[in-house]
Order: sequence, then structure tokens, then C-alpha cells
Amino acid sequence: MRRISARTLLGMSTEYLWTALHGDFICVFDDGEIQTNHREVLYSSYAWDLLRDYPQTPIRTKHHVRAVLGDKRLGSNTHLDLIASVVWDVYDVYVGGYAEDGTCVPRADATVTLDMLAKRTYEITNEMYNELSYRLEEYVVSLDITDFIDVLDHPKIIEAKKPLFSVPLDKVTDKMLEDSYQAVGAVIKGGVELKKNPLALAARAGTVKFDQLLQCVSARGRVTEIDSNVFELPILRSYTEGYRNFRDSLVESRSAAKSLIFSKAPLQQAEYFSRRLQLMSMNVQHLHKGDCGSTKYVKWPMRKSDLGRLAGKFYLDEKENKLKIIRKKDDHLIGKTVRLRSVMRCAHPDPVGVCSTCFGELANSVPDFTNIGHMCCMLLTEKSSQSVLSVKHLDSSASIEAIVLRDADKLYLKVGTDDNSYLMADRLKDLPVKLVIAAESAPNLNDVNEIDDPDNLNIARFSELEYVGLLVGEYGKAEGVDILTAVSGRKASMTHSLLHHIRRVGWDLDTDTGNYVIDMRDWDWSLPILALPLKHFNMSDHSRDIAKMLESSVKMMQDRDKNVRPDDALIELYDLVNSKLDVNLTVLDVVLYEAMIVSAEDGDYSLPKPWTDEGLGVMSLSMLSRSLSATMAFEDHREAITDPISFISTNRMDHPFDVALCPREVFEHLERVGA
Ligand SMILES: [Zn+2]
Repeated sequence: MRRISARTLLGMSTEYLWTALHGDFICVFDDGEIQTNHREVLYSSYAWDLLRDYPQTPIRTKHHVRAVLGDKRLGSNTHLDLIASVVWDVYDVYVGGYAEDGTCVPRADATVTLDMLAKRTYEITNEMYNELSYRLEEYVVSLDITDFIDVLDHPKIIEAKKPLFSVPLDKVTDKMLEDSYQAVGAVIKGGVELKKNPLALAARAGTVKFDQLLQCVSARGRVTEIDSNVFELPILRSYTEGYRNFRDSLVESRSAAKSLIFSKAPLQQAEYFSRRLQLMSMNVQHLHKGDCGSTKYVKWPMRKSDLGRLAGKFYLDEKENKLKIIRKKDDHLIGKTVRLRSVMRCAHPDPVGVCSTCFGELANSVPDFTNIGHMCCMLLTEKSSQSVLSVKHLDSSASIEAIVLRDADKLYLKVGTDDNSYLMADRLKDLPVKLVIAAESAPNLNDVNEIDDPDNLNIARFSELEYVGLLVGEYGKAEGVDILTAVSGRKASMTHSLLHHIRRVGWDLDTDTGNYVIDMRDWDWSLPILALPLKHFNMSDHSRDIAKMLESSVKMMQDRDKNVRPDDALIELYDLVNSKLDVNLTVLDVVLYEAMIVSAEDGDYSLPKPWTDEGLGVMSLSMLSRSLSATMAFEDHREAITDPISFISTNRMDHPFDVALCPREVFEHLERVGA
């Protein structure tokens, strides 16, 4: 077979290669050989324009499209992966980045900038789009209903859907639906069956949304009402088959109603929060290239799923006492508590800046003069707003989230076999136990004695408990706990059996708090005391939870400032955000740093540094106590202007908007410092 050096190909333009290159050959790179053909090399050659412009870069086998694809098909993102693989090699040679041991090695003589490479990358993407869509016209296929029918009628697909129809409709569980989706998906993605089917090809290339494709050929699944309650019976027909009964059509119609509703108030809320967070996040203004040398770390218990979202962060390899970069494939870190560099502990002297080592390797992608806080904030809020907007598509195969109890709470409660109810823990069986129920969570408890049969009550309407209290032990020396009984916005309700019990034994009123105290003597321990409503957790709730966590309230302030450790808050925020979205830790690190203050007690709302105190602030207070230009750009002008603090406290952080509020002062200052 012919052997052609990749360097020889670099000497020719892609335009020329279209006419010159034919058939199979072996391509020889600087670090190995690949048996390939003219088509693969032509595709790769577009990205090689970067190597043509920057010839000192080695040309490696990983710059060939085959290395990028692995065993996948050419897809909608392949060109981006390919160009990225080339451009970062150019970056390392011409600009200089981080060595594997975490040392930053920028080239002193660098004349090439990231912006120049980014511009070229953009041009190449555009070129590929223009040329390939024209030159490959004859290979474009179309799609019609017969292709859908071919998928539906395929014996393996029919087989995969069979279990759903083997039981009555009300016995179809979430797991069966999930298994069926998996099985149908595996047939389509496998590439063995339906090899030439355009629908399956599109799915394998990633050019269609796979979840939506499944709704077209598998089952529509469980649909939710606009208040996020899940309809009891799933729809087993697919969009291709069409809905033939009235119920299915009515139920499905709610997804359109839902999409309309979510584009109003919930989207407005998400966007308004986004505006406030952007104004605040701008406080973290600068990203300084280099290493501040901080020796304070954030302790991070690493799970397998974390690796991808932590990739690029620096951690301390304690054996070698060296910083290293986390990579996706760093399996040896799983299960360990890793010491991460974090902007929350950055020791850079700039009071409104952080260093690129604490930020992480993503710093390479940040253009010069970027306001780093604003950028990170946008990366987070654009995703949460988008998810609220596309709610119709996202909660397609809605399944319910299970209860997960914290270890400390397992001493008192356990989770029922349905994962959706609470029982009391077995160890309490022989102890005197009393339940404490907040008065406001069951305002009509008296009705229990009035009605004919508690079994007729809708328990979700009767009581909603965010917390349940337990008193264990004899009167006077009982230990008391409050346990959270809400899962992602769904609050627990007292079960029918508990209501029967209350009807039998009655309750006491706590004279101080007005709460109900229920004696649990003679309780049947096999019965659940609380159950969660069957409700799907929607994206609007999610977005609101994120806002709640970052903003906090004055009421929670005393607790927050002292008791919540920023390390824990970062993990909590990360888990909350990534329960539904996919956001890199670097982004959340900066967003949380913006929410941190030195000390509310001392009235110091500047960003904490390793040598100061640190705590989480309440956003509304931080806004009033940092630069007032952000407040003036936001709202509550009267409050800010009439608040004496606005005039007494003058040592405040800078904000990019200061120039709009006090132009003369800002320009005079700039002149003085000679900027
Ligand atoms: Zn730093």
C-alpha cells in the first residue's frame, strides 16, 4: 500500500487535495502511522490548516479524524473535537500552557495569542460548513414515514417493547418503561440492526435528540400535569403510532399547556434571578495568569461521576507534594478525598481577582480582559433558564426521584420499599416515641375527628410536612430531632394509617410552639408514617432551589455566616446543579465565591482571602454593602439612598459599574494611578 507522509500533505492545500487524493493509503505522522483513505484525510485536512499556519507544531495521529471518533460515527460535534485536538497542541507549542505537573509554562517569547487561534478556529469551522455542505450534496439522504415504520416493525424493537404490554396498564412501572427505552435505544444505537435506516443513522451520528426519537418509536411514557403531578397511567403508544383514545390525547395535551405556562412566570423568575446574580458576580473581576501559591485547599470526596466535571481543576498529589491536573481518566482518584485548589482559597493580592491556577485549566479558554465572575455566572444561568424553557422536551419520560436519607437521620427514620415513604427506624421500637408536627403543616388536623372515614382524604391536600420532629425517651429527658422530609420540592404528607392512629389516640399541643405532639405508643411499626406525593420535580423548581441556595435570606443569616462551611456549600451547590444540568465545577466555584463574604458580624462584605474569615453572605445584604453601583443598576433605590450605612461605610469593593454611578471619581482615580 502507498505510504504518504502527513507532512507532505500539509504542504498542499485542502482544495488541491480534493483533486489529488484517491483511495486507501498509509499516512505517516510524527508519532505513528494510520491506515486511512482520501475521505478521512480530506475531512481532517480542514483542521490541519492550523498546522499549516503554525508549522512548528508536531503532527500527531490524534489529529486524524479516526482518533477523534474512536468507534463512533461522524457526528454533529466531530469537527469541534477534531479542531480542539489540533488547536491545543498549537497552543502548547506557541503560547504555552500548563505542564502535567501543574506548573504554568507560558512562553516568554510568545507572539501568538489565544485570540488569534480562536479566530482561526472560527474561520475553519465556517469553511468546513460552507465547503462540505456544497461538496457532499450528493451524499445527503432524506427521511420519510416508511423509515419510521421500518423501525417500528423491526422484530427486535417489537421484542424490546413486549414487556410493557404483558401486564395491565396500571401495573407498568417506571423501571419497566426505563428498561424498554434502554432496550429500544440499544437496538437503534447498536449499529448491527437497522444498519442503513436513515433514522437510526441520524441517531448514531447524534444529529437528532435521542430522547425525542425514543418518544417517536418507543412509548411516550409518563406525562405530567402542569402542576408537575404525574398522571397515573403511562402512554404506551408512540408518536409514530399516534394516539387513538381520548385519554391519551387529553393527557398529552398537558405537555403543550405546560410548555406555555413555563415560558411565563417560571421563566421570568429564572431570568430575574439571573440578572441579580450577574450584577453580583461581576464583583469577581480579574483572572490573573499564574499561580498565587495558596496552600489552602477545598476537600472534595471524589465520585466516579465527578471526574468529567472536575477535569482541568488542580489538586495536590500528597505523595509527591505537587499540583496535578484532574483528567477524565483519573480513575485512581475515585473514592479518595482530594485536596482541590479553589478560587475560594486563592491568595492572589488583588481584592477582586483570582489566579489561573486556583481557577483551573479552563483559564486557557478565557479571553483576555474577561470579567470572570460574569462569565461563570452566565455559564450557569443560561443552562438553568434554557432548561426551564425546554421543559416540554426535558421531562419526557418523567420518573420520580427516590428518597435518600442522610446517615444521621437513619437513626430515626427508614425509607419504605417503594422509595417514596418514611417509616420509623426499628431501633426506636421499644422506646417511648412522640412525633412533633408543625401546626402550619397540617392546619385542619381537627377535621380528622369530624369526617366519616380518613381513608377518603386526599393526604397530599391534608398535610404538607417539610420537617417532622421526633421526641425519643421519657418525658423531661427526651432527645429531639427535626428531620427534613421534603425531596426536591415535594413535601411529605401524613399517611392514612397515621391519620387513623391520630383519630384513635388524639394529640397534645405544645404550649410554647403550638405544634402537635402525637404519642406513638401501640403504633404498627410496619406501616409508613409519611409519604411523598407522586410528583415530578420540574426544572422551574430546580432553578428556584439554586437561587434559594445562593441568595439565602436574612432569617438564615446567623446560621449561614457561621455554620455552613464553604467546602460543604460548594459540594451542595455542585450536587444540586448537576442533579439536572451539567456544569463544570470551575464555574460553580467562582459563582459561590461571589456569594462569600469575610464576616457579616464585622460588616466586612469583601471577598474572603486565605488570611481573613470566611462565610456565606445573604445576597440582598451583600448587594447593599458592596459597591452601590450594582444596587443602582438593580432595584430598591430608595432603600439604598435612605440607609445610613450607605454613607457611613465607605470602604467598599470596586464594581465595573462604578464608572456609571460616579464617573468623575473613577476617572480621576484612574489618572492618579496612571492606568
Ligand atoms: Zn490563586
